[in-house]
Amino acid sequence: DADRDMMLSRIRDVPDWPKPGVTFKDITPLLRDAPAFARVIELLSDAGPETGEPVTAASPPVDLVIGIEARGFILGAPVAHRLGAGFVPVRKEGKLPAETTTANYELEYGEETVEVHRDAVAPGQRVLIVDDVLATGGTVSATVELMRAAGAEIVGVNVLLELGFLHGRDRLADVHLDALLTV
Ligand code: 5GP
Repeated sequence: DADRDMMLSRIRDVPDWPKPGVTFKDITPLLRDAPAFARVIELLSDAGPETGEPVTAASPPVDLVIGIEARGFILGAPVAHRLGAGFVPVRKEGKLPAETTTANYELEYGEETVEVHRDAVAPGQRVLIVDDVLATGGTVSATVELMRAAGAEIVGVNVLLELGFLHGRDRLADVHLDALLTV
């Protein structure tokens, strides 16, 4: 449809980045286009997990949007603003100043760690996780682990783009995942 074409035409393939053989999906052309950026934020705010309908004043509220470093900040903060929710950053190891909870996940070579402030999410708070791209699903599943450890209720995971051929969705079988685009 029109939204799909609009978004896809503004996501650029960068071959051999960050390493040979990998094609990186670059969303910066989309971000610099004001109407496209606005539309993406609108759509990312609209995944109503229980009903499949937009999150509105009538929906159970989202207390917090959880944005994953770094492009999840760019998308998650305006989504939080739109939903009237707070924003909580999940960051790579060593970036957050106060006490943190951490979760590890496997990469092709080695391990990666994500962290959240220990006092950022209270038990029972309803959280929506936002990121730009779902690839292997490692980052989002580690974030889900952090949220479960905090006792949060995970309303859903909203991403702009899902790389379907990497089957990240399979690692997230027990959460509601919405992707605006799948390639
Ligand atoms: P995963 O953990 O699912 O393998 O990787 C997802 C994380 O890496 C996300 O935080 C995402 O921002 C980043 N990422 C992986 N591949 C790409 C890509 O092709 N394009 C963009 N924009 N981000 C990517």
